[in-house]
Amino acid sequence: MRKHLFSGLFVIATIGMLMPLAVRNAAAQSAPLLAGVDKAILTELALSYRILVNQNVLDAYGHVSIRHPQNPNRFLMARSGEVAPAYVTANDIMEFDLDSNAIDRQGRALHSERFIHGEIYKLRPDVNAVVHSHSRAVIPFGVTKTPLRAIFHNAAFLGAGVPVYEIRDQSGENNDMLVNSNAKGQALAKALGAHPVVLMRGHGDAVVGPSLQVAIFRAIYTEVNASLQLQATMLGGPITFLNEYEAKKHQGMERTWEAWKRQASEQNVPSPSSRTP
Ligand code: MN
Repeated sequence: MRKHLFSGLFVIATIGMLMPLAVRNAAAQSAPLLAGVDKAILTELALSYRILVNQNVLDAYGHVSIRHPQNPNRFLMARSGEVAPAYVTANDIMEFDLDSNAIDRQGRALHSERFIHGEIYKLRPDVNAVVHSHSRAVIPFGVTKTPLRAIFHNAAFLGAGVPVYEIRDQSGENNDMLVNSNAKGQALAKALGAHPVVLMRGHGDAVVGPSLQVAIFRAIYTEVNASLQLQATMLGGPITFLNEYEAKKHQGMERTWEAWKRQASEQNVPSPSSRTP
């Protein structure tokens, strides 16, 4: 009898201890989808994170955003915290104003470099999607005097040149390498100017496009171009880059987009219940 009483108490105590965890997990799972935004759009944005992981552009860092489809003064991007790019789902997408304040934070962690996105959307009304990554093949071109140039047709969009953002210009020698304020985001957006890509010295790049599809395509082929250019350099001798005419080539993107999306959507991703908020 006494034994039963003890085991009963044990069960009650255990439930009591686990309950807050269960409630917290349930709250994280039920984070509502953004009101007024088509779920297909949120799902596609979430998938684009995984596409960039598959293509070696994102690792555990980096982020993708789109301008809000109904409100040009807002943008949509995933939360931060323990949610690495490969595991982003539609429920992780949050809304921000162009100063990169979360509209409804719900206690979630935010990416410290969200200012990259907000400030580019402010300066570039033609831009509807932004990728920030630590795309590894571009790093050598940000830290040397060798410019990244269009070396093959899929990267024709690099034909007008690729500027480099030097964080020391504004933040000095003692900087933290991160674009974690509006002022730094604005300096980066100015360095980008009218280009599709800006390299970030010793850090990565920011890539933009008029649509998510175009920004993802450019982010991937910027990485590929950088890798190919380095290989061509190692072969020695002058390199023949795309000329101005060749760089104006129209690029079809339907096949790549559908293939990348299909591959990403067919991958198994652990359910959000296995996560902590
Ligand atoms: Mn970064």
